[in-house]
Amino acid sequence: MNQPEIVCHDVLQSRHFSDSQNKAFAIRSPFEWFCLATKDLQDYPLVLAVVAEGVDENIEWVNCIKKHPNWKVECHGWIHRDYRKISLDEGMKELIKAKYKIESTFDQKVTRFFPPKLQINERTLELCRIVSLKQDETSSLSYDWVKDKTIPSFYFHYWAKWDLKKMEEVRQALAERQ
Ligand SMILES: [Zn+2]
Repeated sequence: MNQPEIVCHDVLQSRHFSDSQNKAFAIRSPFEWFCLATKDLQDYPLVLAVVAEGVDENIEWVNCIKKHPNWKVECHGWIHRDYRKISLDEGMKELIKAKYKIESTFDQKVTRFFPPKLQINERTLELCRIVSLKQDETSSLSYDWVKDKTIPSFYFHYWAKWDLKKMEEVRQALAERQ
């Protein structure tokens, strides 16, 4: 079986929330949403796109991630911002800082950058080249692989109702394939 890559975005994000995030976090904390979204993916080789500024503010969340040897952490920025619109110097400093923070916290090598909201251009590509990260261009929350089994990866948001509903379908499809 070709196992799809599942990427969870906005992990450990602690500020610069969207309206839909604020609405969701009025009901549950980000960490509670994350636990709910990943409850059936405990042993899955899940990829977590981490917003590094939230690492020091979410000790419980960090410790939870560390208890999952199959989960891989990667970089989703220092803060959740549009890295296309940042100076090369500032962007470089933020990504280097983020990479170091995530690597030293989780004792894992960070090799990929998942740009917030998939906002990519020449600038983000240049930034990735300078800081030696591979830019990820996973384009959407795609479930086509459930049907045709050819799409190997997609991403989701742990706090989004629609994504969680879709994750249920993904889990079912994975279970049926085993
Ligand atoms: Zn994001």
